Amino acid sequence: MTQIETNWDVIVIGSGLGGLSAATRLSRAGLRVLVLEQHVVAGGYAHHFLRKVKGTDVVYDFDVALHQTGNLIPGRSMHGMLTELGVLERIELNRFDTAFRTVGPAHDLQIPADADAYEALLCETYPEHARGVADLFATMKKIDAGDGGDPSPEAMATMGLSLQDFMNAHIKDERVEAIFATLWGYIGMVPSNLCAFTYSMMWNSYHHGGCFYIKGGGQSLSNAFVGMIEENGGKVLLNTEVTQIVTEAGRATAVETAKRGTFRAPAVVSNAAAPLTFHKLLDQPELGATDVEVVDSLPVACSIHQAYIGLRGDASELGLRDRGAFYNQTYDFEAEWEAVLRGDYRSCGWLLGNHNLADPGHQPPGRSIVHVATITDGRLWTEIDDESYAEQKGELKEYFLDRLAEAIPDARDRVEICDVGTPRTMQRYTGNPLGSIYGYALTPTSHSILRPQPRTSVPGLYLAGAWTFPAAGFTGTMMSGYNTAGLIFEDMEGRMPATG
Ligand SMILES: Cc1cc2nc3c(=O)[nH]c(=O)nc-3n(C[C@H](O)[C@H](O)[C@H](O)COP(=O)(O)OP(=O)(O)OC[C@H]3O[C@@H](n4cnc5c(N)ncnc54)[C@H](O)[C@@H]3O)c2cc1C
Repeated sequence: MTQIETNWDVIVIGSGLGGLSAATRLSRAGLRVLVLEQHVVAGGYAHHFLRKVKGTDVVYDFDVALHQTGNLIPGRSMHGMLTELGVLERIELNRFDTAFRTVGPAHDLQIPADADAYEALLCETYPEHARGVADLFATMKKIDAGDGGDPSPEAMATMGLSLQDFMNAHIKDERVEAIFATLWGYIGMVPSNLCAFTYSMMWNSYHHGGCFYIKGGGQSLSNAFVGMIEENGGKVLLNTEVTQIVTEAGRATAVETAKRGTFRAPAVVSNAAAPLTFHKLLDQPELGATDVEVVDSLPVACSIHQAYIGLRGDASELGLRDRGAFYNQTYDFEAEWEAVLRGDYRSCGWLLGNHNLADPGHQPPGRSIVHVATITDGRLWTEIDDESYAEQKGELKEYFLDRLAEAIPDARDRVEICDVGTPRTMQRYTGNPLGSIYGYALTPTSHSILRPQPRTSVPGLYLAGAWTFPAAGFTGTMMSGYNTAGLIFEDMEGRMPATG
């Protein structure tokens, strides 16, 4: 095993996007940064996995998480941040005119990424609601005025509101509401309990900031971060689980690892889940008592189950022509949410996508990569015995293949790989409790500033990622890491980045 320097300026626990973006900003400013990742691949959820088809040379490369991301057109927050960090020049982007397809009991629409085109489509389809739609879209634009800066007054006004109440101030029509709120399927919280501010940020990131996929998937982005960190003199050490955050005289000063001993630094950033950070890793939990109150009081976000499917043939030609289509069987959000909570995925909406359209050429020749996903409550998969788990997973796989067969009738004959990831899978690879994909749920009482703060009550210990400020998802966690790095600069008495 190569000997690694044991003294660093900053140690980052975990190489999710929150950890990597913090490490990149810190290392670009000249700080010596060590990232410790328990898994054998960097990226957390932003990573990929390979599956070889038995008896052939065919290898499918599946992206674990990314369906799409936003705010990457010049002038938008992510574009600026990734440019500053030197990461944008290391990735290639695919941009889309269509954000998604939405199908419901009485609608079937291809939704444009461009907000004006989206508004025009809704007004044309539902002329009786044109006024409310125009009003709603105008408000979204005002909320967006704060992108990358301080929130506008309109944005502030949405912070304590649910998406349902926010929509109903402009519109009362179940079809228009269902279409406008389609992305609740991404965030995984019923509109009546989904923070309108968070939803607006996500909505605006796509409809004002552009809909994108990163060529090669989340792993390309993670690799670009790792490349920058190491070019700046930092180190990303894989297969290195941190077992303890060590405090001395009340401040975090070191971490212990399972296999490589102790590493010391005056600042430690935890990208591990906040409950793990305070309940499992911190050597003296009482030091973080004020954080623990918040950590224990907030609801954990939903998880997801997703089928990663490789099949023979061109999925578009075979009948699956959408990069991402949301199917909803009802306009009753509450009924659907109840179904999510009781694990009745047959009564829930689902997302079906042809990945060849997101990342053309990434599939093996003559093949297609497709995915089917539904959100779920992680408890239903992480708190059961192994036998029930295996049975449940087998049934779910069949259900997903049935959904695929609605688009491609002979799909079952064409499938070469069908791997289903469940909340238990997500938990196993990242340590996130209940396989949460967004840290805490994004409700009106657990969003942004109400989450555990990145500068914790333990001096020298910081948080980055989905469980802290400002939010989850690709953009939310990268923002988080960037922000946390800024706090460390402040605490290191104005040692600010040399780049900009
Ligand atoms: C199937 C799926 C689909 C998704 N789709 C999208 C999408 O389309 N768009 C979008 O924006 N977001 C999407 N997300 C959500 C997004 O991927 C996550 O919110 C985000 O990547 C989380 O980043 P994070 O920084 O919180 O770290 P995580 O990804 O949670 O990673 C944390 C890292 O810390 C490591 N770690 C934990 N404990 C330790 C320890 N003790 N020692 C060392 N390492 C440790 C873990 O191994 C892991 O690598 C999706 C997620 C999933 C699972």
